[in-house]
Amino acid sequence: MANQPLYCTPVQFENLLELVKNAGYKLLGPKLRDEVIIYDELHSAKDLPIGWTDEQDPGRYRLKRRNDNAYFGYNLGPHSWKKFLFPPREKLWSAKKQDNKLVILQEMAPPDEKMAFIGVRACEIQAIVVLDKVFNTKLAVYQQYQRRRESTFIISVNCTTCVNTCFCASMQAGPHVKEGYDLSLTEVIDERQHYFLFEIGTKRGQAISDALQLRPATETERDLAYKHVERTIEKMIRKVDNANVHALLENSHDYKRWDEVATRCINCANCTNSCPTCFCSDTEDIVNVDATHVDRWQSWESCFNLSHSYIHGGSIRNSAQSRYRQWLTHKFGTWWDQFGVSGCVGCGRCITWCPVGIDVTEELKQLQIEHDQKNR
Ligand code: SF4
Ligand code: SF4
Repeated sequence: MANQPLYCTPVQFENLLELVKNAGYKLLGPKLRDEVIIYDELHSAKDLPIGWTDEQDPGRYRLKRRNDNAYFGYNLGPHSWKKFLFPPREKLWSAKKQDNKLVILQEMAPPDEKMAFIGVRACEIQAIVVLDKVFNTKLAVYQQYQRRRESTFIISVNCTTCVNTCFCASMQAGPHVKEGYDLSLTEVIDERQHYFLFEIGTKRGQAISDALQLRPATETERDLAYKHVERTIEKMIRKVDNANVHALLENSHDYKRWDEVATRCINCANCTNSCPTCFCSDTEDIVNVDATHVDRWQSWESCFNLSHSYIHGGSIRNSAQSRYRQWLTHKFGTWWDQFGVSGCVGCGRCITWCPVGIDVTEELKQLQIEHDQKNR
C-alpha cells in the first residue's frame, strides 16, 4: 500500500502499543532478563530495554548502558520469533484406548491468541518468510503455524546499529525492512531530537495507527532516518558470498575443513536452537502406566544430535564432522533446492551463541580458500 512516511514522537509510540493491546493483541517483544535481551510479553513500552545496547562477538554477548534513552538501541538476543510461531514444545493430541481402539480425545487446541511482535528486525522478517515456506509445502501444511501467523501483527524496526556478528546485508535480508510488516519504525535519537519514522504496511496497521493522528514526516526527517539505516550496512564487518555459496557447498563434501571444525564443535545444538529458521522437530508419545492414555508431543530437534539421523538401527551422521557439514550445507546450500530461498538470513545468532565461537562466515571463507587451492 502507498506508504507516506509519518513522524511519531516517543509518547505517540507508547500510545501505539496501548492501541495495539486494546485491539486484543498480546504484546511480545524485547525485554531484559538474566543479563540478555530476550523476547517475552510486554505490558507497555516501558518494559522495553530502554537505554541498553549490546556487544557481540563469536561466543560472546555483553549488555552495556547507552548514553540515551533509545527504545531499540540494541541488536538481537538468543531468542527469535520462531518460539511463538513454532513453540519449542507443544502437545499435538491426546488419545485414549476404548474397545481396543485408539480414540482421539483432543486435537491440539487452535491457537486463538492474537499476538503483536514488537521490534521485528529485517532479518527476522526474512526468517519468518522462510518459515512460511517451510511450513506450507505441497507435502504438508502446518495448520497451527498458519493460524498463528494469520493472527500475528508485526511492528518492525529498521536497524540503526549492528554488532560484529551481523551479516544480513550480504544475505540480502536487511538491515532495511522492505515488506512483511503491518507497521514499520525507524528510531532517530541524538542530542537534538528523538522520533520515529513511521511507515504503514497494511490496512490493519493503518486502522490501528489512525487514532495517533501522525503528521507526515518532512524530507529531512525521512532522509536522516534512512541514512542511519544505510550506515548500518557500512558497519557490518562480516559477509557471505551468497551468490556462490550453493556451488561451493555442493562440491566440498570431502574437504579437510570439515575435520578441522569438528575438532572444535561440541555438538551442543545452540546454533540450531537460536537460529530463527531451523525447523526440525521430533515427536514423542507419552503413554500412561496401564497404556490406556497417550499424549503426543512435538519438540524442537537438532541435526547436531546423534539420534536425529537414526534410521533402521544406526545413525547416518555418526561423526561431528558429518553433522556440522549437514547443518552448514543445508542452511546455505540445499535449502535453496528445497524451498527456493536461503536458510540463513545473516542474523549472526549462531556465531554469538556458539560456546566455542564457531563462525559460519569464517567456515565458508575457509572452505572457499580450500576450494581455490584445489582448483588452481
Ligand atoms: S545460520 Fe546463523 S546467521 Fe544464519 S539465520 Fe541461522 S542463526 Fe542466523
Ligand atoms: S557449531 Fe557451535 S553452537 Fe553449533 S553445535 Fe557446534 S559448538 Fe554448538
